[in-house]
Amino acid sequence: MGLTEYLFITAFFGLPGVLGGWLARGRGKNPVIWALGSALFPFALLVLWYQKPDHEVPGHFRKCSSCGAVYAWKSPSCIYCHTPHD
Ligand SMILES: [Zn+2]
Repeated sequence: MGLTEYLFITAFFGLPGVLGGWLARGRGKNPVIWALGSALFPFALLVLWYQKPDHEVPGHFRKCSSCGAVYAWKSPSCIYCHTPHD
């Protein structure tokens, strides 16, 4: 196998894998399993991208103390009931 083919295969499976692992980590999921899944089935990236965790993930998602909804960590208040976090 030549270098070009090797690079192609690495990019083809490696990039979705790395991205999947990174997304999974931010969503409180197992990054290893999701990295492998994304490498084999890039469709898993879409699933991960639109999926929110069901619990708080520090640095990524907060769980509202009032309504229990999960929203982006950077948001100053709950996007659903507008309760500010502490
Ligand atoms: Zn809320």
